[in-house]
Amino acid sequence: MKKSTKQQFFTKNLLVWFETNDRPLPWKGEKNPYYIWLSEIILQQTRVEQGLPYFEKFKAAFPTVFDLANAPSDKVMKLWEGLGYYSRARNLHFTAKFIAEELNGVFPDTHNAILGLKGVGPYTAAAIASFAFGLPHAVVDGNVFRVLSRVFGIKTPIDTTQGKKEFNQLAADLLAKKIPAIYNQAIMDFGATQCTPANPNCAICPMQKKCTAFGDKLIDILPVKSKKIKKRDRFFNYLVFKRADTIILNKRSQKDIWLNLYDFPLVETTALLDEPALTKHNDFQQIIGTTTYSIRKASKPFKQLLTHQKIVAVFWEIELKAELLTNESDFFEVKQKNINNFAFPKIVDLYFKDKSLYLELF
Ligand code: SF4
Repeated sequence: MKKSTKQQFFTKNLLVWFETNDRPLPWKGEKNPYYIWLSEIILQQTRVEQGLPYFEKFKAAFPTVFDLANAPSDKVMKLWEGLGYYSRARNLHFTAKFIAEELNGVFPDTHNAILGLKGVGPYTAAAIASFAFGLPHAVVDGNVFRVLSRVFGIKTPIDTTQGKKEFNQLAADLLAKKIPAIYNQAIMDFGATQCTPANPNCAICPMQKKCTAFGDKLIDILPVKSKKIKKRDRFFNYLVFKRADTIILNKRSQKDIWLNLYDFPLVETTALLDEPALTKHNDFQQIIGTTTYSIRKASKPFKQLLTHQKIVAVFWEIELKAELLTNESDFFEVKQKNINNFAFPKIVDLYFKDKSLYLELF
């Protein structure tokens, strides 16, 4: 479809802006689809500054898709530690194995096939297709929603089917089809550095003359979302059992947050507990059984916000007088000096850091 005058203005000015505002990032200009895919998965829901060192670490540890495919899951999770949204790491590993074993290590080169990879949604597929293979697919993510809704004054909520359709169509119309990689990079950078969520740099913006949000003072209300995500509160009482120089860890194997990461035996409750309430709790009694113990200390509450959940955790440091006899197959005893080999959720790392004692917990 032929671009309208405003659409032409947008695409042209975006590309001119990009000529002098291109951010030098290690994956830019990269043509190896494996590295492009790696960077795009790492950057999902992650700021560039945060993702950058992870990209470098993964590239160094796994220079080819075969290296990643053959790596033990614990190694992949450990390298991912601190980046959050751990399903990305599990999908990354799964897809590396699929490409290595089913596709002989050859990355798929059509948009549909890329979209069919586990962990690759429409945004990532468009990015990989355009950056690695020059295919004309426009990226649409939070940055793009924001830029387009502001410049074109679109009030349709971005989290509705109608909104997604409208924005996808507009994004496809605006794409510079002969140079999709440059255009996609430009709009991503424009959203990340120029038309930012708070305090966009309107004063020196090339879109200002035709930007509806700027002209109609709608910057604070665009883009529109129909619903706010309601967070569920969860309270974790972590039982940090110590016996001599060992502690007990738990491998998270249930379908829940932080699958395949490690934490401690856990009593989950609907509010924080004091010591008498904790020790009377059924789950606590089930875990401790007849083992003699003494509670040494409770940490301050630590908090971690996830997309749909707010976690509050207290770490109860408990000395065991004998081996913990438990049927729980996910619990295992490790030497305290070896805990650095395991990947923990951020909230557990915060607890470790607060104690500043990786080697001696008590
Ligand atoms: S004028 Fe302001 S709101 Fe409009 S595109 Fe530029 S930075 Fe964004």
